[in-house]
Amino acid sequence: MSDISDITYPAILPANDLSDEVGDNVVQTFQLESNALRGRCVRMGDVLDEVLNAHDYPPVVAQLVAETMTLTVLLASMLKYDGIFTLQTKGDGPISMLVADMKSNGDLRGCAAFDVERLEALVSVEGDDIALSKALGTGYMAFTVDQEQGERYQGIVDLAGESLIDCAQHYFNQSEQINTGVKMVVGKRDGVWRAGGLMIQELPDEGGKDAHDIDDDAWTRAIAFLESASDDEMLDADLDANALLHRLYHEEGVRVFEPLNLQHKCRCDEERVRNVLSSMSEEDMHDIAVDGMIEMRCEFCSHVYRFNPDDLQSL
Ligand SMILES: [Zn+2]
Repeated sequence: MSDISDITYPAILPANDLSDEVGDNVVQTFQLESNALRGRCVRMGDVLDEVLNAHDYPPVVAQLVAETMTLTVLLASMLKYDGIFTLQTKGDGPISMLVADMKSNGDLRGCAAFDVERLEALVSVEGDDIALSKALGTGYMAFTVDQEQGERYQGIVDLAGESLIDCAQHYFNQSEQINTGVKMVVGKRDGVWRAGGLMIQELPDEGGKDAHDIDDDAWTRAIAFLESASDDEMLDADLDANALLHRLYHEEGVRVFEPLNLQHKCRCDEERVRNVLSSMSEEDMHDIAVDGMIEMRCEFCSHVYRFNPDDLQSL
């Protein structure tokens, strides 16, 4: 397995018109003209809402799954890959796992694993605004790229800081040594889950990982503009990515490229579930059967697959 920081960055494509509207559920690639900074802007609406509505997560879990998915889109779209990018946290806290993955075509999904009793106990003391270290505990955040053909890449960093962004920042400081600024906001607007994300990074030299030298003022200014985006601007369904980028960065000169559309799509399928079950012993199959049927629910999309153990054995 190779280090994920060895993956090259995507080539910059021909520029699009900033005045074109790019719609919702999209990740927009951009570059600032005045300095060698490139970025990504994410706007998500019903893609995120569908994922969270397939579950009945407590608010703190729903919030973290939304953040995990947004961070996944930001990080995945920074990499050049053909396959699946996965972001996963594992820890000893009440929320033992957060996971989201994105195919290079924009198919996105996410879910969480948590201990209901431990989480309820924590929420009863802390309220819904729980420190990340208490919710996730001690553990790690892993980034994995499974290429359609070829190698598997991974990067791992300890869970640290107050937010998932802090963990990702920690990784960039430690492993990539590329200045990275990230902002994301998730929340409900008109009863629908929405997310907005912004990320800027120093642009590495062609084919390499070394960032161009950029002056500190340019970096500070770019981060200040990023931070200046309000929660309402980040979540506004009527403010598309290009309009937001224009509002934030028009003084710097902003160039936009081909956006990638995001869609909620799970990769589970009946055949795969059937194969897993078929490899079990007859006894184990009957142990997990309820009223003579085995039910398997996909953790990501909540789709329920039902099988008769006798049919599985006859395969
Ligand atoms: Zn599924």
